[in-house]
Amino acid sequence: MDGIPPRSGIRERLGLRPIINVSGTMTALGASIAVPEAIAATTAILPEFVEINDLHRLASRTIARLTGAEAGFVTASCAAGITLAVAACMTGADLARIERLPNPAGMRARVPIMLGHMVGYGAPVEQAIRLAGATVVPFGQATSVKPYQLEAVLDDQTACALYVVSHHCVGYGQLPLDEFAAICRSRNVPVVVDAASEYDLRGFLAAGADLVCYSAHKFLGGPTAGIVAGRKDLVRATFLQNMGIGRGMKVGKESILGTIAALEAWERRDHAAVRRIEQAALDLWRERLAGIAGLVATIEPDPTHNPLDRLKVSIDPAPANITAWELADRLGAGSPPVIVRDHEVEHGYFYLDPCNLHPGEASVVAERIVAEMATARARPAANHEPASARRQRRSARLLAWPD
Ligand SMILES: *Cc1c(COP(=O)(O)O)cnc(C)c1O
Repeated sequence: MDGIPPRSGIRERLGLRPIINVSGTMTALGASIAVPEAIAATTAILPEFVEINDLHRLASRTIARLTGAEAGFVTASCAAGITLAVAACMTGADLARIERLPNPAGMRARVPIMLGHMVGYGAPVEQAIRLAGATVVPFGQATSVKPYQLEAVLDDQTACALYVVSHHCVGYGQLPLDEFAAICRSRNVPVVVDAASEYDLRGFLAAGADLVCYSAHKFLGGPTAGIVAGRKDLVRATFLQNMGIGRGMKVGKESILGTIAALEAWERRDHAAVRRIEQAALDLWRERLAGIAGLVATIEPDPTHNPLDRLKVSIDPAPANITAWELADRLGAGSPPVIVRDHEVEHGYFYLDPCNLHPGEASVVAERIVAEMATARARPAANHEPASARRQRRSARLLAWPD
């Protein structure tokens, strides 16, 4: 992309590993490459005083223009946005209620969610609901939901219903959003959508959502922040949570303006050109990895229909003399470290995600994989460690932080 500042070497100076991210927009890796417009905006506003609610007004207008919503609000993260959106549906614009949370006494506080949507994104989505003081009401079966099951859980104590759009969700058997929203609307229950990673800024509101929550730091390339867009009365009530539980989830001026800048850059971006760059990386990988014993590479579309393909790399451990998870670990441990998308690696595959590459990195990734496969083939037949041992090692490492 044009306008990306030259690499500063800051990671090397700090003693942090200079990782290449082919995993996706992961919080654990720093989310995304911020767009130059967001970097410039955050730098410009940081030394200045502003009346923060006026800056929030500007953000609301920009969010409204891009999403088609009546209003919008910027908070700390999409996860914070979910909590504050639920809180808004509980309190309305009643400041006494806002101060009383997370004690829900006297408020509607039940929040239904389909069982197949009860996912984690590094933290459980249902905890984002409970943080507001609400009670999670799971319904349906994990892989099958019927309209009558939603109708049966909506009652006069229901604050709102949560709908999650994510590759983490069960991918079939769920109620589609328009049907879900129509049932909720007929009972006067607002629908909150978690669309953290979805490029579509308009479709969920158009399908009947009352509030939609996005991440600013994922596909938008903004600073760390969350966006809540939707009905003006509910967005206002979300904003007013800043006087209550939202205080601990606040954004500063730099995140508000950085989010505005990222949205405006998204509006102007040549999305087809970005797609061509990503396609070139996929083509390069597929060609370079063709014909390696025990490795099959195929291009797959994004499971939630974002305009983004990924390369699926499947490893047959017998001819390859390495498992998919050992290969992922070796790529992550080598030089430079390459972090792959490994959510499903116990099935023998991982993905390469092309949406976070700096110029020149795609070929480095291909050469690192070719080299690791050659090393594995040249060694004596290996005894493969089960995927569960890798998982245990990784959780032990997490629990040992800061060591
Ligand atoms: C990333 C993600 C979140 C959390 O977003 P943050 O802005 O990092 O808090 C929530 N829901 C889904 C589906 C996600 O993918």
